[in-house]
Amino acid sequence: MTTQQGMFGFAETPEWQQAAQEDVQIADVVFNLPLERPYSYAVPEPLRGRVQAGQRVLAPLGRSNRSVVGYCVGVRPFEKGQRALKSITELLDAEPLLDSSMLELTRWIGERYLCGWGQVLDSVIPAGVRRKSGTREINALSIVEGVEDVLNTPRLTRQQKNVLEILLKEGRPLPAAELCERAGCGPGPVNTLRKRGLIVAERVRTEVAAAEQRDVETQEDLLMNDQQLKALEQILRPIRAGEYETLLLHGVTGSGKTEVYIRAIREVVSYGRQAIVLVPEISLTPQTIRRFRSRFSSVAVLHSHMTDAERHWQWQQIASGEIQVVVGARSAVFAPTPHLGLIVIDEEHEPSFKQDSTPRYHAREVARKRCQDEKVPLILGSATPTLESWLRAQRRLDTLVSMPHRVAGRPLPPVVIVDTRSDPRMARGYSLGRAMFTAIGTALKANGQVILFLNLRGYSPVVWCRSCGTGLKCPNCDISMTWHRDRAAIVCHSCDYSTSPPSQCPSCQSPAIRFLGTGTQKLDEEVQKAFPEARVLRMDSDSMKKPGSHDEALDRFRRGEVDILLGTQMIAKGLDFPNVTLVGVIDADTMLRQPDLRAAERTFQLIAQVAGRTGRGERGGRVLVQTSSPDDKAVKFASKHDFLGFAQHELAERHDAMAPPFTAVARVIFRGPDEQRTRQTAIAVADKLKAARQGELQSLRVLGAAPAPVVRLRNLWRFHLQIVGKTHELVRQLWMAVESTLTLPDDVELAVDVDPMNAR
Ligand SMILES: [Zn+2]
Ligand SMILES: [Zn+2]
Repeated sequence: MTTQQGMFGFAETPEWQQAAQEDVQIADVVFNLPLERPYSYAVPEPLRGRVQAGQRVLAPLGRSNRSVVGYCVGVRPFEKGQRALKSITELLDAEPLLDSSMLELTRWIGERYLCGWGQVLDSVIPAGVRRKSGTREINALSIVEGVEDVLNTPRLTRQQKNVLEILLKEGRPLPAAELCERAGCGPGPVNTLRKRGLIVAERVRTEVAAAEQRDVETQEDLLMNDQQLKALEQILRPIRAGEYETLLLHGVTGSGKTEVYIRAIREVVSYGRQAIVLVPEISLTPQTIRRFRSRFSSVAVLHSHMTDAERHWQWQQIASGEIQVVVGARSAVFAPTPHLGLIVIDEEHEPSFKQDSTPRYHAREVARKRCQDEKVPLILGSATPTLESWLRAQRRLDTLVSMPHRVAGRPLPPVVIVDTRSDPRMARGYSLGRAMFTAIGTALKANGQVILFLNLRGYSPVVWCRSCGTGLKCPNCDISMTWHRDRAAIVCHSCDYSTSPPSQCPSCQSPAIRFLGTGTQKLDEEVQKAFPEARVLRMDSDSMKKPGSHDEALDRFRRGEVDILLGTQMIAKGLDFPNVTLVGVIDADTMLRQPDLRAAERTFQLIAQVAGRTGRGERGGRVLVQTSSPDDKAVKFASKHDFLGFAQHELAERHDAMAPPFTAVARVIFRGPDEQRTRQTAIAVADKLKAARQGELQSLRVLGAAPAPVVRLRNLWRFHLQIVGKTHELVRQLWMAVESTLTLPDDVELAVDVDPMNAR
C-alpha cells in the first residue's frame, strides 16, 4: 500500500524533525504478535493531535521496515534524551475503535492469558468493524416528499400502498430486494411506483441493517415464586448500590433462572444502562432470543453466523447506546456498551466459554474483570456450576444465590442407573438395553416424547482388525477413524480426512476389518427398527449441517411431530419440552473415559443437564443412564441430583492432586512437522523453566515435557508441558522470565494455554 492511499497519508521527508522537541508526540503501538511490549513511534507533524489510543496505524516494523498494521495503545509527550524513533506512516481510523476501558481490558487479557496485547485486539475487534463493512454504497429506494398525501387515493393498489407504508415507517432508504421481501410482493409494484415518481432510486452510503429485528409479541412478566423473589432481591442489592459483585446463581434445571435474569436486567435498563447476556452458542436459538425480545424493546444478538456487515451494524447500534440488551455467545463479552449495568453468563459451566485459539481467554474471567472495572455486578447461572466458580462461592469471594427447587413444586425426575455389564439385550449387541427398550415403549404408548443422548457421532467409532487387533487411525492424526455408513467412508473427526474403508488390514493384510461401537447413526437405525411406528429425528453435527436446521428440528419436536429425538450434546442444552417423559443416556462411559482432569465433572454436568430435560410438565418424567461403571461417583451423584455431594467429593480429589481450582495451570503446546526437533524443543524449554525457579518461584512445578495425549494432529507432532503454581501471577512470572530468552527452530511453534480446558 502506498502512503497516498491511506485516509491520512502524507509525503515522505517529514518536516516535524525541525520542530521543537517538546511538540513531538510519541505513540505506543502493539502488533498482532505474541507477547511483545508496545513499540514507540514518533507521531509526524501532519498527524499530530489526531492519533489517539484505540486507532489503527501503519508503522515500519523490524529490520526490513515493512509497514505493518498496529494498534495505538497510548500517546504521550516526547521525553528529553530519548533516542530517535521511527515514525508512524499512516493513520487508518478516523475514530478510535475502542474506548479506554476496553483497551485496558484487552491489555489485561494479554497479561492474564500470556499472549500479545495486539493479538487480543486483533481477535476482539470484529473484522467487519475494522473494515467498516456495515457502511457501504448501495442502490436503495426512498419515497419522495409529500407521498403521505397520495397514500389514501384509490389510484394505488393494495400492494403499492403497502410498499409506500413500509418505506414511510422505516424512514430510511431500503434496497429493492429487502423492500419486496418485507412487502411480500414481486418487483412489479415497486417498478410501477418508480415510474410514477413516487419512489426514487439513489446511491446511499448506508448501514447494512441486520434483517432480524422482526416484530415479536410483547409478553407480560411471569409471576415469580418466593424462591425467585428472594434470589432477585440478593441480585438487586449490588445493582442498586452500583457495586461490583459476582453472584453465583445455583438453580436446578427448571427453577426459573431466566425470569430472574430478566427482572435484574429490567432494573438495569430502567437506569438507562445496558446488560450483556452470554449464552452458549448452541443455546442461541430463536426460542432464547424471543424470550428476550418479548420483554425488551431493543435487543441485539451477536452470533458466529453473522456476516461482517451485520456484525458491524450491531456493533455501532450497541456503541450508540440504543440497545438495552446484548445477547450473544462468548465474544459478546466485548460488546461496546457505553453504560454497562450488568453481565449475565447463563450455563456458566459450558466449556465453549473458553476460546481455543489465541487469545485463549475464558469469557467468565473477562466478564469478571470488566465488571470489576466498570463497578457492576456479574451473574453466573448454572444448575451444575464449575468447581472454579463453586470454590470461589465457598470461600465467599463470590456470593452464592441458591434456587434448589423447580417452579410449581415439580420434583426433579427420578434417575435410574442401568448396569450394562449384565444386560441380556446388550449382550446380543444392541445399544438399547432391556430397561431402556421397555421404558421407551412405555413412554411412546402413553404419547410421551423421548430424548436419547449419545456423545458419539457417526456410525461406529472404532475401525478394528480382528486378526491382529490394530485400530485404524487417521494418517494425519493420532485419532481413531469413525465409520460413517451413509457416506460409505471412514472419517477423522479431528481433521475431517476421509477415505473409503480398507478391504484389508494395513498391518497384517487380513480381510477381517470390523466396525465396533455405536455412534448416533447406528443408534438411529436401531431405534427405527425397534420402534417402527415412532417418528425419529437425529440431531448431530452431521445431520444439522444446514444453517437453521437445528432450530427447525427443535420446532418440529416442540410441535409434537417427532416422538424420539436422539443426538449428541446438541440436545442437552436448555430445551424446555413439557411432553418429554423419558430421557435416556445411552453410554455414560464415553464421557467418563476421556483422559481429562474434568472427565468426572463433565460426566456429572451432562447427566444432570440431559436429566433436566424431562419432568418439566405435569406428566412428570424419568431418566435412565446406561453405564458399565455404575459405582462411579460422578454417575451416582448425578443420579441423585446431588451437586453439593459431587462438588465436595470432587474438590477433595482435586485438592489432593494439587489440581485446579486449587492451583493455576499454564499448558505450553509445541507443534512441528519434525518429531525429534519438536520433542527436543519442548524438553529444552521445560529445562529452562525448571532452572528459572528461584526465590518465590521455587514453589512452582513444571510437568513434562511429554507427548501430548494426541501426539499427532493434522500432520504435526505435539508435545506439551505444564506450569502449575499457587496463583496465576506466579505462573506468569516464571513464564515471563523465560519467554524472552527463547529461540525456537523455524518449524516449531508454541501455544500457551492458561487454564486449559482441552486436554488433547
Ligand atoms: Zn490386522
Ligand atoms: Zn485426522
